[in-house]
Amino acid sequence: MNRFVVVGAGPAGLSLSYLLASSGHAVTLLDSTTSFSRQFRGDALMPCGLEALSHMGLSSLVAELPQRPLQGWSVWLQGRQLFQANEPMGSLQPCTLVPQERLLEALLERALQQPSLQWLPGRSVQRLLHDDTPEARIRGVQLSDGRCLQADLVVGCDGRQSLVRRQAGLKLRNKAPGLDLLWFELPGPLQSGHWECFNTLVAGGAIGSACLGANGSLQLAWLLQPGAAVPKHDPAGWARRLAALMPAPMAAVFLEHADRLQGPRRVSVEVGLVERWHRPGLLLLGDAAHPMSPVRAQGINMALRDSLVAAHWLGRSSAAELDHAAMQVERLRRPEIERMQRLQQSEASQGHRIGHSALLRHSLAWLSPVLGPLAQRVWMQRQKPLRQGLAGALPAAPLSP
Ligand SMILES: Cc1cc2nc3c(=O)[nH]c(=O)nc-3n(C[C@H](O)[C@H](O)[C@H](O)COP(=O)(O)OP(=O)(O)OC[C@H]3O[C@@H](n4cnc5c(N)ncnc54)[C@H](O)[C@@H]3O)c2cc1C
Repeated sequence: MNRFVVVGAGPAGLSLSYLLASSGHAVTLLDSTTSFSRQFRGDALMPCGLEALSHMGLSSLVAELPQRPLQGWSVWLQGRQLFQANEPMGSLQPCTLVPQERLLEALLERALQQPSLQWLPGRSVQRLLHDDTPEARIRGVQLSDGRCLQADLVVGCDGRQSLVRRQAGLKLRNKAPGLDLLWFELPGPLQSGHWECFNTLVAGGAIGSACLGANGSLQLAWLLQPGAAVPKHDPAGWARRLAALMPAPMAAVFLEHADRLQGPRRVSVEVGLVERWHRPGLLLLGDAAHPMSPVRAQGINMALRDSLVAAHWLGRSSAAELDHAAMQVERLRRPEIERMQRLQQSEASQGHRIGHSALLRHSLAWLSPVLGPLAQRVWMQRQKPLRQGLAGALPAAPLSP
């Protein structure tokens, strides 16, 4: 049995640790934080993420968590609806909102049932340990308290700012323009049928979104130009600016409750794909290998699909075969990630073009009764892979830990 050190207990690290420990490997999982309540990372599980969880044998775990199926996706221009596409849009399951914090807690609980898992919360990796040979094989990690952990393979699942990636000298390439978001939350309850869809809101040169989260609070985003300063408004001013993006009935209900509005909180998102996901003794997965844009909720889903493929290859390899297995993981996962990042980018560029051209925005809004159905058809074609992933991207047989 192999010794793995998994750095980072997000969706990638937790699911991988659970799968490897379930097949008897010695896994040390560590995370710099001690709690899963973290800066907002989204709750949306696409059918392709639910499929990965099902292949991991975790469908019953998800079924026991609080959740809400998303009703659909609605695009509003200047307060007029361009179209609404209802879930499940041809998939077997709808996009489902599950509080990420609860999903991670449940995954950890399952993982801790495996006797070969060691969990080290509140421990950060400070540096990678490697041989003095020209190959400089990674042999383990040193923690910030000075302790050293030896491993046959270190798996870096430490997210978009990955220290493991930087220390290993693996460079992010194919960098797409990042996103700067302002994030707001309006705690529930909200008695209105307006937010059961994910609403994209475009008006007056600004782009935002509003959707009821899995915990019943309304989550709102306001897109900033990268690097731009946060506009200065008091809470009432922000409520008015957000309401100005919405159609009148939605805005009226929103403003009734807006005294509970929390935020803004700035979230800066880097997007890219690492040139190589592995080097001897090391593999990167999830956002550490390919920081995903939040556009159309891909990151958790891709992280889970990475872990499933990684568990399949790493779990059945001897220590001497792990580098080859890491290479296979990248070979199998790269095409899906490249495709999803291209689709996210084209969705973002289209939104940007419409959002920032007054002529285009007003024409589309005015002609929405005629152009809406066509726009919906084009949009839905792009959504299929974003929801279902690429055919054949997962191992044929489900893992049975
Ligand atoms: C605003 C926003 C909304 C989003 N919405 C969605 C959505 O609805 N659906 C979706 O699928 N995706 C969404 N995403 C993307 C998604 O959150 C990420 O892609 C996903 O969390 C990546 O999972 P991961 O396991 O690779 O990394 P992470 O979830 O980032 O986990 C990394 C972990 O590593 C730990 N760590 C970092 N450095 C160290 C260190 N040195 N030592 C030890 N531990 C360390 C961190 O504490 C963290 O727990 C969104 C992202 C943003 C920014």
